[in-house]
This record gives sequence, structure tokens and C-alpha cells, in this order.
Amino acid sequence: MPPSLQVYEERGARILSKSLWQTKCFKCIWANIANVEIQWDFDRDIKKYRFETFCYGPKSCKYYKMGRARTVPYKNRDSALDDGYLDELCTEGRDEDE
Ligand code: SF4
Repeated sequence: MPPSLQVYEERGARILSKSLWQTKCFKCIWANIANVEIQWDFDRDIKKYRFETFCYGPKSCKYYKMGRARTVPYKNRDSALDDGYLDELCTEGRDEDE
């Protein structure tokens, strides 16, 4: 059985390569795909959504790969690049093997 959503939330996630999610990680309870919200237009509060893959598993997992950095589009602005810089912050509450 997979853990509860609360457990996932407490653990925090790292960006996971989509090709790994589709292959080696597919049966892992820590592999997830989520519909991520992007604040596309700040002036009119318009959001966009897209599916992204994440790993909630141990940071020491030998399979882990982040994959390519993800572009985050904004209307009338340059896109940002999500290169996983928040992953360390999101998972700071646990050690490498947790
Ligand atoms: S813990 Fe390892 S096998 Fe599981 S989703 Fe993360 S990288 Fe994949």
C-alpha cells in the first residue's frame, strides 16, 4: 500500500526524470506524477497546468536522476528555468537514507 498523502507532504519531493518515472521508477511507491499549477499571467491571475514527475524517496536511491531542467513560462516575461534548486529545501527534513 502506498503511504498517505500526509506522509508524501511531510517528506517533500525532488524533480524526477520523466523517462525514469516511466521505466525503473514506475513501480516504486515514491514515484509520483502531479498536475502542477503555473501562475502564467500575474495581471489577470490566469494559471496553466501540466503534469510533472517527482520522487519522494530516499535521496540516496541509486536510480535517481533529475532529468532536464524544466522551463516555466510566464506571459509577457522571460521563462524561468526550474533546475531543481528548491529540491534541497523541500527535502531538508530528512537524511540521505530516509
Ligand atoms: S526512490 Fe528511487 S526508484 Fe523510487 S522513485 Fe525515487 S529514484 Fe525512483
